[in-house]
Amino acid sequence: MENVNVTEIFGENVFSDKVMQERLPKKVYKELHETIDEGKELDPMIAEVVAGAMKEWAIEKGATHYTHWFQPLTGVTAEKHDSFISAPTKEGNVLMEFSGKELIKGEPDASSFPSGGLRATFEARGYTAWDCTSPAFVRKDSAGATLCIPTAFCSYTGEALDQKTPLLRSMEALSVQTIRLLRLLGNTTSKKATPSVGPEQEYFIVDRDLYLKRKDLIFTGRTLFGAMPPKGQEMDDHYFGVIRERIAAFMKDVNRELWGLGVSAKTQHNEVAPAQHELAPIYAQCNVAVDHNQMVMETLKKVAYDHNLQCLLHEKPFDGVNGSGKHNNWSLITDDGINLLDPGKTPHENIQFLLILICILKAVDEHAELLRESAADVGNDQRLGANEAPPAIISVFLGEQLEDVLTQLISTGEATHSKRGEKLHTGVRTLPDFRKDATDRNRTSPFAFTGNKFEFRMVGSRDSVAMPNVVINTIVAEVFDEVATILEKTDDVEMAVHDLIKEFATNHQRIVFNGNGYSDEWIEEAKRRGLPNLKSMVDAIPALISEKTIKTFEKYNVFTRAELESRAEIQYETYAKAVNIEAKAMIDIASKHIIPAVIRYTKVLADTVNSVETAGVTANVQRELLEETSMLLEQTKKSLNVLIEVAAKGSAMEDGEDCARYFHDVVSKAMVDLRTPVDQLEMIVDKEMWPMPSYGDLIFEV
Ligand code: ADP
Ligand code: MG
Repeated sequence: MENVNVTEIFGENVFSDKVMQERLPKKVYKELHETIDEGKELDPMIAEVVAGAMKEWAIEKGATHYTHWFQPLTGVTAEKHDSFISAPTKEGNVLMEFSGKELIKGEPDASSFPSGGLRATFEARGYTAWDCTSPAFVRKDSAGATLCIPTAFCSYTGEALDQKTPLLRSMEALSVQTIRLLRLLGNTTSKKATPSVGPEQEYFIVDRDLYLKRKDLIFTGRTLFGAMPPKGQEMDDHYFGVIRERIAAFMKDVNRELWGLGVSAKTQHNEVAPAQHELAPIYAQCNVAVDHNQMVMETLKKVAYDHNLQCLLHEKPFDGVNGSGKHNNWSLITDDGINLLDPGKTPHENIQFLLILICILKAVDEHAELLRESAADVGNDQRLGANEAPPAIISVFLGEQLEDVLTQLISTGEATHSKRGEKLHTGVRTLPDFRKDATDRNRTSPFAFTGNKFEFRMVGSRDSVAMPNVVINTIVAEVFDEVATILEKTDDVEMAVHDLIKEFATNHQRIVFNGNGYSDEWIEEAKRRGLPNLKSMVDAIPALISEKTIKTFEKYNVFTRAELESRAEIQYETYAKAVNIEAKAMIDIASKHIIPAVIRYTKVLADTVNSVETAGVTANVQRELLEETSMLLEQTKKSLNVLIEVAAKGSAMEDGEDCARYFHDVVSKAMVDLRTPVDQLEMIVDKEMWPMPSYGDLIFEV
């Protein structure tokens, strides 16, 4: 077995800071850093030099092409490859060229990417712009090696058509408001605050030959039919179980590849469901983490393919088996290394921590619908609220100790204001020794405080984590802004901080919930508390374009009204399209595979009944099976007819909210009605005759 020296290979395919330091003239390196760190406008001359160094480096790595790598609103990354070669000279030679202009700006045709009406077709032009804060990398695959340059993607008129543009805008807004607040709290050193993100990725691995026999998996990423195997996850023997050989070999290659790309894949383990696994990287700066997570998903798929395996990133590939999510770990760290979500050891740090914590509570409570919307995804509808993932209700888990502090603050009035020497003192006696690592982790909470970070656990496994972070960054910035504005006007900051903590804690206590988020009682309790419960993506989308949302995003220049409206439109369209594809796949599979197979089986039964009875023996069992099968076959055919009718009606509707609603309310229901008799048939029909591999084959055969 080839041994891997991790320290040697880590980041070998990344145009990292170290590489830049080695290859760029000192002055250029310094100026580029002013752009990266302080957002100073990039000088075209600098870009020219960087492009040259990047090209040399990439060619040494074997690259022949470069691409502006971006994340349009399709959910996957996009790229358009250009080779480095120039037009041949008179002598017939070519040169390898890459200019500063080509580094900074690309012009992919925007017309084939979703824009939600932002771009008329006659204005098809779109631009990609270099995001110098996320390092370029060389990716190797069967197409050779390609220099990938992370970019933002916007329309001719500057509207964001991608995930990254609003993300960068939200990071900027959050940094500005954080520093403003920190100054008022006495911090004189920090210059910038950056959200850190560590997204844990769940996924399924199945055998590729079996996968290829499942048209539903191929077309939609999830199974649309399938009866539960006799053994599911009830034995709990998979979670953290020994990783099987074939999977271990796959994971080894995944790590090898990700490390080369500078993605610090750290932990890997089996997840709750059979064939389910998780990969967690070490956290990174928000936009880099978002890029890395896209690279993780791409790498999982590619390496699985090399191992004749298939990686399923869908949120719910198997009905009745745990689905997959992504846990978005989020904290806020200053350029001089202070994690603002770290409770710290001294009262001074504690009061700052407490204020920030309570600001986040307020933000989450005020924008619960929007936060839930940021995790809306067609596949996630199958997962949220299904007793295995957080419900669609947003609440915050704080842990016993912090909740106790909150309760004291609100009720006993013991948290009186007092001043001792130069130190801020909260008067809350339990404050000085926060337990750093909550041992009593709550896995059922969608937004849990876990020691020195929040973990947003609602995100779907296939979705980009960009939007959840755009939302968290912006809504937190908004509350920081509000607090800073109040503090700027007061002479007694300490007193004001104290009052604000108490006020916010009182007003937003309802968002805190430490109990079992999967229980039915919580659904009732949440309703009493007035917390929103947006069960489906279609119910959630309006939160993206509510006046409250628009106001918040516009205030911090993260999204314009037009950009938000376009995104809502894209989401309705995506929803209807995805369900339509599922319906069509079901119709195809039921008509061409399942019904013919069942008919063959009924013929075998009928023939058996005849021949057995001709021999003078009663064939009651065969007859009973024949009747049962025929009855279910009839139900199947009837439900199929209904699905064909409603899907056709849906397809004929004009895109938009009504169409998405129709697919949600009518088409999805017709799909369930078709699935039910088919899954019953699967339990009866001869396995040899069933036209596709079963759940048991898929999840226990790797
Ligand atoms: P668990 O599964 O118990 O939540 P893991 O160790 O699997 O814990 O994952 C924790 C994730 O949180 C990792 O991706 C880690 O890098 C990330 N993380 C740790 N500290 C921070 C932080 N301060 N900010 C953001 N993410 C963090
Ligand atoms: Mg976790």
